[in-house]
Amino acid sequence: MDDELTGQKIIVVGGAGYIGAHVCKAVADKGATPITFDNFSSGHKHAVKWGPFETVDLRDKPATLAAFTKHKDAHAIVHLASSIEVGIGEKDPAGFYENNVVGALNLLEAMRSLSLRNLIFSSTCATYGETDQMPILESQVQNPFSVYGKTKLTIEHMIQSYHKAYGLTYITLRYFNASGADVSGEIGEEHDPETHLIPIALAAAAGLRGRMKIFGTDYDTPDGTCIRDYIHVSDIAAAHLCGLKAFANGLTHSKVNIGTGKGVSNLEILQMIEKVTGKAVPYDNAPRRDGDLTRLYADPKRAKEALGFTAQHSSLKNIIQTAWNFHSKRWNLKNVHGPDDK
Ligand code: UDP
Repeated sequence: MDDELTGQKIIVVGGAGYIGAHVCKAVADKGATPITFDNFSSGHKHAVKWGPFETVDLRDKPATLAAFTKHKDAHAIVHLASSIEVGIGEKDPAGFYENNVVGALNLLEAMRSLSLRNLIFSSTCATYGETDQMPILESQVQNPFSVYGKTKLTIEHMIQSYHKAYGLTYITLRYFNASGADVSGEIGEEHDPETHLIPIALAAAAGLRGRMKIFGTDYDTPDGTCIRDYIHVSDIAAAHLCGLKAFANGLTHSKVNIGTGKGVSNLEILQMIEKVTGKAVPYDNAPRRDGDLTRLYADPKRAKEALGFTAQHSSLKNIIQTAWNFHSKRWNLKNVHGPDDK
């Protein structure tokens, strides 16, 4: 039934971020209220539009407990807040472990002390690490090589322990490559610094930066470039709705991949950008980027079986089209937001 979520209150930690804003919008579209908790370290005030918000930094344990106490009638918590920039994690593991792991522990402790049970945690395909087995199954050994992946896997373990010992109910979503933007063009990917392929390539196509670099053209793939599984952010948001409904239907715990099952190479992305925008992407071949795996794509079967989720918006064309709509709008309007509205 589609009205299962009507009237629910959902705390979205990190609701001002790229994926968080899309989750808030999807939750509000179902007649539920998203309550954003964010410290705006990387999220944006202008992306909080669908419900109340609290300024919360999860590293501050008393403040975290106070915010959760204020909203202790919430039906579920979606936890998306974390440091995500892989390169920064390698240079600053202390900051990453504190923000991601200590922050998650404070969140779990607040949930435990208030008997809040339902948690959807955003994890990542980076928890799998190096593997030749494609597509990736959830049962595969997780051996992350990046600090980022290690922090996410540590949190997965913490959540499992809380489930076992304290009865926390949870769904861990291991996202593959989040991409695209809401069809309205009002929210999308705004990282600073931006390190992701699609927004960088769109900026290069728009002439807003110099030539971009394609990291590695000697991989063992048909065109020599890396292969990833790009999933539209609106599909990721829809997966959260499936998770919230699954709680309502009695699911107690699950760990699922959120991907399409289809691999796309870096050069195929550039070709689709040229097709959609009519502009060529100026690029140079560059050496491999540290830590990049040759290919990563999901086995999406468990998401379908456990949550009834399948990707609906993730054709490469739609991903590029919606991202382009969002960015071209944003670049034209870039002086509209005030100085404290990042
Ligand atoms: N990439 C690239 N040039 C860039 C940014 C990314 O060639 O300026 C490549 C990167 O090396 C990888 C793929 O694009 O092969 C996807 O990288 P991204 O950072 O978007 O996502 P990741 O898979 O690392 O999470």
